[in-house]
Amino acid sequence: TNIRREYKLGETIHALDDLSLTIEKGEFVAIIGPSGCGKSTLLNILGLLDVPNSGEYTIEDKRVDDLSKKQRAQFRNGVFGFVFQSFNLLPRTTTYDNVMLPLKYRRGDHRDGKVREVIASVGLTDRLKSKPNQLSGGQQQRVAIARALVNDPKIILADEPTGNLDTKTGLEIMELFKKIHEAGTTIVMVTHNNELLTYATRVITMKDGQIIKDEREKA
Ligand code: ADP
Repeated sequence: TNIRREYKLGETIHALDDLSLTIEKGEFVAIIGPSGCGKSTLLNILGLLDVPNSGEYTIEDKRVDDLSKKQRAQFRNGVFGFVFQSFNLLPRTTTYDNVMLPLKYRRGDHRDGKVREVIASVGLTDRLKSKPNQLSGGQQQRVAIARALVNDPKIILADEPTGNLDTKTGLEIMELFKKIHEAGTTIVMVTHNNELLTYATRVITMKDGQIIKDEREKA
């Protein structure tokens, strides 16, 4: 509610300008708009990677805009999975170990089973021991999606997840997101690609740090 995020570089840039938005559980939201309109800033604030200068942010009745850094990290790990345009996998590290990473500090014997389960769900069981430079772009993004899924996130935040992929591979990744959404995960995705909007249940258009259009799929 009334979120502002400003950058002071001589003049003040209003990356988010008094923006209010409610996202419901189970939505698949696409955020579009010209470069520099504030899409990534919004996604970073939603994912508790960044904090607004002012405004209120609530997740399931809990105020989260005033958390300490440590609380924010805890909340982030419990609620969100992130998928980026450039995959952001650890190099020289296998599929298995990249996906295990978010679980490293979790106790219990179920870690191995969970890691194999999410890798299977993205169709990469035969590439468990491959490192990123031995995988195609689409396969690397699948590893990144498995890593995002391993903590059973309620919300997946994806910033241009198909931006580095060819059209066909991009659509395969979107089919995977569709499956994840149908299984009950909320998805918020920034995209430049209008062809992908058919996957979303809601399309939000931004301009100059504000929402100028908000369209829900007709039932
Ligand atoms: P988009 O994702 O829509 O391309 P961004 O959220 O990345 O837009 O950026 C919104 C505005 O905030 C732009 O004017 C951008 O230059 C500015 N901005 C983003 N990050 C920073 C930063 N770290 N320092 C200064 N300005 C920034």
